Formats: sequence, C-alpha cells, structure tokens
Amino acid sequence: MSATEIRALHHLFKSADPSQVAAVQVEAYWPRRYVAPLPSKHDPRKVDAYINHGRWVADCPFCRGAEMVTPTDPRFFCMSCDNSGASGKWLGVRFPKGAAEIEGVLKRRTFPEERNWHPQETVKDLRAEDEAVRRGVKL
Ligand SMILES: [Zn+2]
Repeated sequence: MSATEIRALHHLFKSADPSQVAAVQVEAYWPRRYVAPLPSKHDPRKVDAYINHGRWVADCPFCRGAEMVTPTDPRFFCMSCDNSGASGKWLGVRFPKGAAEIEGVLKRRTFPEERNWHPQETVKDLRAEDEAVRRGVKL
C-alpha cells in the first residue's frame, strides 16, 4: 500500500475471506468481545461510506461513533454503542458507484487530510476543488 492509497478496513485487517474483514475487526477490538457473541443478524438499514483524511469510514446513526469500513465486507458495527439502535445487528454500508474514480482524484492530493469526500459530492466537484487550489484559492 502506498502512502497515497485511500485506506479501507481491508488494508488494516487481513482475512483469508475478504467478505469477513468487518467480523475480524470486531473480534479483535470490540470491548465486549469476551462477554458477548459477535453479531450474527443483519438489520436492513444502511449507512453511507465517506472518505475522511484518506480513509473510508461511516458514522454510527445511533451515537457519535464512526468506524472504518471496506467494500469487500460492507457491514457496519459500532464498537462504541454496539449498534444499539439496531438491537446489536449489523448494518449495511452503502459505497458510491464511482468509488474508484473518487479515489483516483483524491490520491493525487498531497496530504491525507486533504483527501475527503462526502456522498453529496461528485467527482466533478472534487476536480473543481483541485482546480481552485491550483489557482491559489484557499478552501
Ligand atoms: Zn454507535
């Protein structure tokens, strides 16, 4: 992984089965992992993935928590509140259709803290930001 890679959960947690990376993370870091079983059920609701400082993350809809996420295992479990509003069930994660193009634009930015994208932004918006910066506009 290069320094300019947009990082996702699968870059930090390895699994022989990429569709299980979120479970590997929860098994490793969930504070209640010794006293409660891993979530096995799924809630139909989804959270939106976004890019913050070069990382794919999603916000918990029930508390102020956030977790890194991955398109290889698009499940969300907040280790701060145990997905309290979904009775401890996994939530789905919605990634944008143009994720590779978004990453391609952001990877050209110099510093990780400049690599941000929110679902309401288009690739055209990101390119316009880069053009504005090249012209010396402070964002
Ligand atoms: Zn939470």
